[in-house]
Amino acid sequence: MHRKADYTSVFSNPDEVLSYFNGRSALLATMHGKEQAIAPVLAEGLGLQVEVPKGFNTDVFGTFAGDVERPAPQVETAAFKAAACLGHFPDADLVLASEGAFYGHPESPFLTVNTEIVLLRERHSGLQVAGISSRTGTMAASSDVSTVEALREFASNMDFPRHGLILKAGEAAEMTVRKDFTDLPSLESAFSEMIATYPSITVETDLRAHRNPMRMEHIAKAAQDLVRRLLALCPQCGHPDFVVKDFERGLPCELCRIPTRLPLKDILHCKHCGHRDAILYPKGETAYAGHCDWCNP
Ligand SMILES: [Zn+2]
Ligand SMILES: [Zn+2]
Repeated sequence: MHRKADYTSVFSNPDEVLSYFNGRSALLATMHGKEQAIAPVLAEGLGLQVEVPKGFNTDVFGTFAGDVERPAPQVETAAFKAAACLGHFPDADLVLASEGAFYGHPESPFLTVNTEIVLLRERHSGLQVAGISSRTGTMAASSDVSTVEALREFASNMDFPRHGLILKAGEAAEMTVRKDFTDLPSLESAFSEMIATYPSITVETDLRAHRNPMRMEHIAKAAQDLVRRLLALCPQCGHPDFVVKDFERGLPCELCRIPTRLPLKDILHCKHCGHRDAILYPKGETAYAGHCDWCNP
């Protein structure tokens, strides 16, 4: 199934990475069609084939959680899924894990952020790299509605039925949940049944990947980031994932030259050997005075 490889954490150039992965296959345990987003990107970027195991219940990894706050624990969850997948499929050498979260923007809580992770792990070498993508453009919302008109308006704003909707009513212990609607009449008839019993119904977007095309596009972005990181080699040790991982604040204000909180340097970091490099002035040599605490307190 996979050819014997001689990975020693060292690639001397990106072409070696490409020939290392070309023609091999990686297992992706998903019940939500995520291979539709990931497979084309990895086939084009690395020549890697994605295989989805049949009859594998990914719920053993935990169901979708919307309460993860930062990318770091999300990468850990993806790593845990990848390790569980290796444990479950002893013949697989390469596995992929995908993990997503939706949460309030730390500085603008009314904005929803969607962070998607696509992680690749190789059993025999221990190579593990996570592609990450975060964005605020999401199809994630919820509303309490009590009329069919309000339901229709929400459905139209949320691009239903291209994006799935879920209806919920009642208290946690005995909540009624209806989903997997494919058209407006079926959504409306479920709503009419529920509103006969409950004063108002919560309608929310379905965040499962196969019912949320916007999320699916975003998973593809995370897969692109994975390809980018696999091809970004540390100049010191040849390990992949030598990319910008941090920054130093202090870009001078365009008017008064006092350092601002904007990035002065982007920091590239190799977690394999610890090598660091910096890109000075990643976004121009001065900061707009509007960002200066002195000129625009
Ligand atoms: Zn200033
Ligand atoms: Zn290194």
